[in-house]
Amino acid sequence: MSETGFRLSVFLAIFVVVAYAELHAARRPKVGDWKQRWRINLSILVLDVVLARLTVGAAALFAATYASQFNLGLFNLIGLPFWANAILGFILLDFAIYVQHVVTHRVPLLWRLHQVHHADEDVDLTTGLRFHPLEIILSLGYKSAIVLALGIDPWVVVLFEAVLNASAVYTHGNIGLPERLDLFLRKFFCTPDMHRVHHSVIREETDSNYGFFLSVWDRMFGTYRQEPALGQQAVVLGLPEYQNRATPDFWQLLTLPFKRLPR
Ligand SMILES: [Zn+2]
Ligand SMILES: [Zn+2]
Repeated sequence: MSETGFRLSVFLAIFVVVAYAELHAARRPKVGDWKQRWRINLSILVLDVVLARLTVGAAALFAATYASQFNLGLFNLIGLPFWANAILGFILLDFAIYVQHVVTHRVPLLWRLHQVHHADEDVDLTTGLRFHPLEIILSLGYKSAIVLALGIDPWVVVLFEAVLNASAVYTHGNIGLPERLDLFLRKFFCTPDMHRVHHSVIREETDSNYGFFLSVWDRMFGTYRQEPALGQQAVVLGLPEYQNRATPDFWQLLTLPFKRLPR
């Protein structure tokens, strides 16, 4: 199976499973017009995929292949065996994404792009696919630089990207696990209840739970928050600036970073 086929299969499988679970066991009642949100969020996804394909979509895999062919990057220079490259590469890529997420909340210019993700008035699996195309392109460039600097194996990059996409769909799902299972899993991995806190309109809650796949970074760096102050059912999601306003449409979202002032 090709790299694209593998990634697409993993994505479609998790999308169908989470969509089914949302339909039959939603964690919270829907907020706003979900059909309109799905139309907007999925349109952004299509635009992201097309623009990424036309630009730096394959950059991380290219960087990994280049590094392994020419023996570049830290892991290749010190001759790490494949298994160590795989484990360390995967963990450090996840850490890099955590750092990137913290930085996008702290740097006003990057927050302008990232607010497109947070402006969603409800959170479901399609929110996990809603990122401004410039944020996606910047993120791909950043990931590629890390892959090249560390010399991460191409297979590890393909696996990581598939896991990251699947995790983005899963952790944004309007679904919940039994409380004890959720709290146990959270010791290692992000769960939907954990990431929902990150989408609260309350600033301190938005600036917590930055992890996408592994939850250990939030615990390690003091950005972990167990529950929203109002609880999972009553927490208001989105950004305060967009409460009680008409939902921004597709074009308004694309131009949002260039119009509104950051926080
Ligand atoms: Zn965020
Ligand atoms: Zn999110």
